[in-house]
Amino acid sequence: MEYICELCGRKIVRSRYLVRIASYAPYDGLEIGLLDLTRNFEKEIKNLLKKIQNKRGKKMEKDICVGFEFILCKKCRDNYIKNPLGKKRVKRGRKRISRKRNP
Ligand SMILES: [Zn+2]
Repeated sequence: MEYICELCGRKIVRSRYLVRIASYAPYDGLEIGLLDLTRNFEKEIKNLLKKIQNKRGKKMEKDICVGFEFILCKKCRDNYIKNPLGKKRVKRGRKRISRKRNP
């Protein structure tokens, strides 16, 4: 089977790499406090149902979890793992100071 790198578009001759990216809303576990025991759950559930009905199902799903999967060649994969968040590199060096003369 022939694979094409999804980043550079070249045919993958040797090794191919699968990159999976998943974004989840964190689950912080269940903690029950005094406030929880006095909450009006019926009202909260009704409000939540309203929210779900207002938003489209897919949109709601996207808010919770989104995933991607890419096939990359070795070169693109090596570049990807160097900077997975796509951060801009800060150039280190001398700062140019421009001096303005007062008139
Ligand atoms: Zn590539």
